[in-house]
Amino acid sequence: MGEFGDVVRAESGFAVDRGDGSSDFGSSTRLIPLPTMADIPEYDLIVIGGGPAGYAGAIRAGQLGKKVACIELERAGGTCLNWGCIPTKALLKSADLFQKIKKAEQYGISVKDLSFDFAKVVERSRGVSDQMAKGIEFLFRKNKVDYFVGKGFVNAPGMVSITEGEHKGKFFKTKAILIATGCRMRRIPGLEYDGVRVMTSREVLASRTQPKSVIVVGAGAIGVEFAYFYNSFGSKVTVVEMLPNVLPVEDEEISKTLQRALEKQGITIHTNTKCENFRVSKDGVKVDLIKGDQKIEVEGELLLSAIGVVPNIDGVLADNLKPELDRSYLKVGDDYQTSVKGIYAAGDIIGPPWLAHVATFEAVSAVNGMFGHGIPKRVTKFPGCTYCQPQVSSTGLTEKAAKEKGLDYKVGKFPFVASGKAVASADSEGFVKVISDAKTGEVYGAHIIGSEATELIAEYGLAIELEATVEEIHKTIHAHPTLSEAIMEAAAATTGEAIHI
Ligand SMILES: Cc1cc2nc3c(=O)[nH]c(=O)nc-3n(C[C@H](O)[C@H](O)[C@H](O)COP(=O)(O)OP(=O)(O)OC[C@H]3O[C@@H](n4cnc5c(N)ncnc54)[C@H](O)[C@@H]3O)c2cc1C
Repeated sequence: MGEFGDVVRAESGFAVDRGDGSSDFGSSTRLIPLPTMADIPEYDLIVIGGGPAGYAGAIRAGQLGKKVACIELERAGGTCLNWGCIPTKALLKSADLFQKIKKAEQYGISVKDLSFDFAKVVERSRGVSDQMAKGIEFLFRKNKVDYFVGKGFVNAPGMVSITEGEHKGKFFKTKAILIATGCRMRRIPGLEYDGVRVMTSREVLASRTQPKSVIVVGAGAIGVEFAYFYNSFGSKVTVVEMLPNVLPVEDEEISKTLQRALEKQGITIHTNTKCENFRVSKDGVKVDLIKGDQKIEVEGELLLSAIGVVPNIDGVLADNLKPELDRSYLKVGDDYQTSVKGIYAAGDIIGPPWLAHVATFEAVSAVNGMFGHGIPKRVTKFPGCTYCQPQVSSTGLTEKAAKEKGLDYKVGKFPFVASGKAVASADSEGFVKVISDAKTGEVYGAHIIGSEATELIAEYGLAIELEATVEEIHKTIHAHPTLSEAIMEAAAATTGEAIHI
């Protein structure tokens, strides 16, 4: 791979295009003229990757008046806006609405000839992504971020080039580099992803055809959301999870409640189960499920694999740059700098928890730190959400983690069935659970399962950030009737003071 030094030596020279996205310097058949050093534009910051980490970091640098560029391989907004958070939530909104209308009778409304157009559901989701990506492109212009579509490559600290796309062959000098190239879906080894019978979330999000039956491998947030989506529209769904619970990172009580709710909706769930022997044909996929000493064959028109992610690190850095890695993720210090000076990283590329809001926080924090605006902060507290119905959200410690840490803790719980607003809305499934220090009442963690769980969790997030106590939450007047009263009541329940249970 080319290096900064080569570029200096190669003034007015040529770079060899190997045709595989990488380039080198010297003599060969396909020569790209190299700009002279004087021609190379100079930036304060070059961001590689335009997802929630990359675009937020670039916009923040723009806000600080820095000369900044963002290089994005595909579309501004990254996985989140184009192939992740946003398009899935658009699909889930259609699923929720369809389910609500099916239950319209209970609200005194009758609906005749209810139907749906699956292709239009997907079309709307793609439209939402497009609108959001355009929004980021607008924000780039507004904040004077130079935006290049292409593959970014770090030649050396202070030197970046574009190795693919219409700007291929462009070089940039820069004071700092932020790598925000994110992750892509992990694939099951040996299984061919044909985009027809075997897909990751990426292909599924673009597919306008509804499968009659789906095997979802992996019951993390992505697997569970798609299982709920397909089941809502009448596909037969089987979920397979290797670990003992669906949403394995969540509080066990919440995971078990969710599993019961999803099973009641008609989804078949196999936990503690491994998949073996995938047989893909033109009609579908057959797979053996191994559960203890039991072997069950299941089949589906589609197999959706949702078994986690792997970092987009290959082809991003010159071979001689060897930043320290942590299980193939870029390792960063408290200031988000990698072990190579001047090269920073944020978002999914630095490892879990692989969440968009965490990615944004990290990048903004990194950029503020780079340019002397406050001390960067690594993420320790964050909310996590799953948008099936009932929704699941959490922040801070699970009860199991509190136990394992040997903490002296108390639990306060409040069921939505005791909430006037939840009952009035016919959405009374689920509960709020808060874990706090037994002596001081400081909130350690909160877990919600219920229809608006993902909106409600913000209050507990703030409480944890401010080291607030359950008493302070209890003593804060919450509007009536709102679901947020359940937050207050769960806090009050810690000391046996909840009024409505
Ligand atoms: C189906 C799905 C649903 C999800 N739902 C949620 C959710 O509800 N909430 C949540 O918080 N998170 C969710 N996530 C996770 C979320 O999308 C990621 O955590 C988030 O996008 C990470 O942001 P990032 O900027 O680090 O990386 P990304 O968003 O992945 O952006 C990285 C960008 O870098 C680009 N890139 C890669 N290599 C190069 C290169 N060499 N040069 C230029 N550009 C490059 C990629 O094209 C990509 O656009 C979901 C993910 C998936 C797949």
